[in-house]
Amino acid sequence: MTLLQRIKDLVRSRSIHVSYVDVGSCNGCDIEILACLAPRYDIEQYGIYVHNNPREADVLLVVGAFTLGWEEKLKMVWDKIPEPKAAIAIGNCPISGGVFDRRGSYVDPPVSKHIPIAAEVPGCPPRPTEILSAILSIRDTVFAGWEVKQR
Ligand code: SF4
Repeated sequence: MTLLQRIKDLVRSRSIHVSYVDVGSCNGCDIEILACLAPRYDIEQYGIYVHNNPREADVLLVVGAFTLGWEEKLKMVWDKIPEPKAAIAIGNCPISGGVFDRRGSYVDPPVSKHIPIAAEVPGCPPRPTEILSAILSIRDTVFAGWEVKQR
């Protein structure tokens, strides 16, 4: 691997831009994500920045049980994120449907049926520290080795 490729991987894995989408939550998980931005957890000290624009994102956080109205929209958001990219399911809802999972209802969990999920953070809701840990855990597996995978 060349020096330039090493530098690219290092920069990618140490400057992660996050976008998030709510596909049908109670807003409990959204509040925990917002807590990550506040001074107590201060997500930016880890080189993680939050954007609303998926075209500028590396990581997509997905919250909520997957409601049928998101069938095409979530795929569109996912397709707009440039490679390399990863999605993380936040909370029990996108993992299993959580409290919203009712047979024959308007939800269609898990979200991994609709887009590839690199990591899952269970909890109702999960703690901000667990959300931060999940983002940090994928940076080496998804982003640090990207240049090698392209060879
Ligand atoms: S996992 Fe719990 S807190 Fe999070 S969206 Fe679902 S019901 Fe709400």
